[in-house]
Amino acid sequence: MADIQRIVMANIVKDGYTGSIDDYRKEGGYTAIRKVLLEMKPDEVIEEVKTSGVRGRGGAGFPMGIKWGFVPKDSPKPRYFLNNADEGEPGTFKDRALMTHDPHMVLEGQIIGSFAIGCNVSYIYIRGEFYHEAKILERAIKEAEDAGFLGDNILGSGFNHRIYVHRGAGSYVCGEETGLIESLEGKRGWPRNKPPFPAIEGAFGCPTIVNNVETIANVPFIINNGGAAFAAIGVEKGTGTKIYGISGHVNKPGLYEFQMGITLKELIYEHAGGVRDDKKLKAVIPGGVSMPVLRADEIDVQMDFDSLVKVGSHLGSGGVIVMDETVCMVDALLNLSVFYAHESCGQCTPCREGMPWMKMIVDRIEHGNASEEDIDLLYDVACNIEGRTICAMGEAGAWPVKAFVTKFREEFVEHVKLGRCPYNK
Ligand code: SF4
Repeated sequence: MADIQRIVMANIVKDGYTGSIDDYRKEGGYTAIRKVLLEMKPDEVIEEVKTSGVRGRGGAGFPMGIKWGFVPKDSPKPRYFLNNADEGEPGTFKDRALMTHDPHMVLEGQIIGSFAIGCNVSYIYIRGEFYHEAKILERAIKEAEDAGFLGDNILGSGFNHRIYVHRGAGSYVCGEETGLIESLEGKRGWPRNKPPFPAIEGAFGCPTIVNNVETIANVPFIINNGGAAFAAIGVEKGTGTKIYGISGHVNKPGLYEFQMGITLKELIYEHAGGVRDDKKLKAVIPGGVSMPVLRADEIDVQMDFDSLVKVGSHLGSGGVIVMDETVCMVDALLNLSVFYAHESCGQCTPCREGMPWMKMIVDRIEHGNASEEDIDLLYDVACNIEGRTICAMGEAGAWPVKAFVTKFREEFVEHVKLGRCPYNK
């Protein structure tokens, strides 16, 4: 069994920890910001984060230090740092827990990141449904202001910084960084064509960094312990730890933080208590519903960026969805297809038209009104969406379809042959 090593959930698991600023400081909180503001230059902070190798935990996996380094040093414009708290990927519930139970760790990482890129005003763009979490963050910001970690001339360093919480209105695609920026600017949340990338031209036409909550929460540890200490945890191109959120048919669903590289099999059977009611495992989605599903015989795989690519999937957000033998895979895909058809922003044709078409075809198969050609048609529609859209939602909707049809084709064929769902869904 892998050693338990925690970074972002290290405080949360302690008995009696409330997430207040006093509790956070008792655990060493806000020491990293002191070190950064009083002893380091912005470039040194960026170098430390680059050394850590930390990659984005929101789905894309882009190295955070490299992203910060893209902000032009000579731009006369203001810079913005946006904390992407729009966690809307089904099966993903980790950022919500961090914001609820350790908001100051997130704020400290955000202030450090803002200092590194020369930003005086940053935002937390939080999913509209997270009303409770938005209130917790607002309270934490007030506590940080009162303690002198936010505001003017922080700790006498000459650095001024303010954080604002901006609530979204419940759109999945506003979790995409340019959709988020449009929404923050008060417009419809339509993702932008890239380039220009946000680091060059983002919010309000200014250089902007967008990082995910969990990614940002790693920053205080990196500063306190050094990038090399962070890089020593996990695997070569997947350094540090990851929160794996396990849901579905396991005995102990929940959030588990482990070093990158723990196997999916160990996560499910050693930590999440195995499949409930001793049922047989059928399938696992390893990184939120956008990521290709794995069959039960593929779970002896390490949960890091590169290892999952080797088996045809991705780490994504680390939201692990476990399905036992009672699940109808066509019905499961129908559930996902309804979601993607609903969430398409409608801006590009393959996504706007393709997502509802895929939903209709899956619906036909599930209810026994399809032919075998429809299975191939479904796969073909997915192939014609992938790679032909403005934002990654095209892939997010197409990848699950391709994986479900490829890996569980026998179930799709059975529906067609029987003229009904064999699971009586
Ligand atoms: Fe909108 Fe879909 Fe195009 Fe993304 S891929 S911009 S969600 S229509």
